[in-house]
Amino acid sequence: MVFNLKGKSALVTGASGGIGSAVARALHNQGAELIINGTRSSELEKLAAELGNKVHVLQGDLADTNSIGCLAEAAEKISDNGIDILVNNAGITRDSLLVRLSDQDLMDVINLNLISGFHLTRKIIRGMMKRKWGRVIGISSVVGITGNAGQTNYAAAKAGMIGFSKALALEVASRGITVNNIAPGFIKTPMTEDLSEEQITRLQASVPIGRLGEAEDVAAAVVYLASLEASYVTGTTLNVNGGMAMP
Ligand code: NAP
Repeated sequence: MVFNLKGKSALVTGASGGIGSAVARALHNQGAELIINGTRSSELEKLAAELGNKVHVLQGDLADTNSIGCLAEAAEKISDNGIDILVNNAGITRDSLLVRLSDQDLMDVINLNLISGFHLTRKIIRGMMKRKWGRVIGISSVVGITGNAGQTNYAAAKAGMIGFSKALALEVASRGITVNNIAPGFIKTPMTEDLSEEQITRLQASVPIGRLGEAEDVAAAVVYLASLEASYVTGTTLNVNGGMAMP
């Protein structure tokens, strides 16, 4: 099988959401053992029941920096050989023009989209370094590259993920660990379901491929970056945006 992940274990954050659940399904389909995280246990349990064996639910709030260490330890204990693939996918938006942006919305977005990934990766990567194999994959965003009015907080966090990954890729390249990002365009998930018909039509017109993305489009890119076949790809950002931006 191409992109065979049998014998590998993956921790996917935000697996209760649109992209995260598709990523979990796709990695599991390739044979990976899964640890799925989010704050909504019911959604995670539903996904675990759907996928069947080799799926473990690890509920936890990544906004609480102090609990991330415990969460990482618990994840490593669940899996026999530690975590091989970390997908930093959990994210939120709190959109507002900068002049109206509250400190709370600024810090919440930076904290969850960027800082939680720092803390979780720092814990999980130690085991990868010992075992000399690992994949760290961040779900950034096209707006981290192009910017978007009303999303200074979110765009800064997503751009920060890209700088973080490049620096870390250099630190761990000699240990068999790759660190990459995916920058999705507009993907149909609960995060984008509040868009009006008019906004969707306008967005669609800006996508050369002519449709909004599906969570499965992003999941396929995660499977590739997680695979043995992608062992020579590091420090990069894979754009999955239907051609709407070609940086
Ligand atoms: P989503 O359906 O809203 O999923 C967001 C996920 O993040 C949920 O599983 C949620 O879990 C989790 N999460 C939120 N706060 C958390 C916390 N404090 N602790 C742990 N987990 C938390 O959105 P999505 O579209 O799938 O987004 C997934 C990622 O893709 C995000 O990083 C997003 O920025 C990025 N992205 C999305 C798009 C798009 O168009 N949809 C485009 C570019 C990038 P709970 O609900 O269980 O708390």
